Amino acid sequence: MLRFQVQGSGKAPHSITAEGEGPDFRIFCSCPAGRKGGMFCKQVAALLVGDVTKLIGPTGEMAELARRASGSPRIYP
Ligand SMILES: [Zn+2]
Repeated sequence: MLRFQVQGSGKAPHSITAEGEGPDFRIFCSCPAGRKGGMFCKQVAALLVGDVTKLIGPTGEMAELARRASGSPRIYP
């Protein structure tokens, strides 16, 4: 399980968690849009393209996130 904290539009950061890899890759965000499911929220979308401008804390796990997400038909159909 990978965990990221990202800055949202409000004061409180959002928590993004990712698990599995390839076909089993799943990613969730605690923001209102993320909790609805379906489309990725903007925080998740940014992370998945390697945009770390809203990321709080170390970026060391970004490479691992990209590795796990590659091969996911939900992200790169
Ligand atoms: Zn979000």
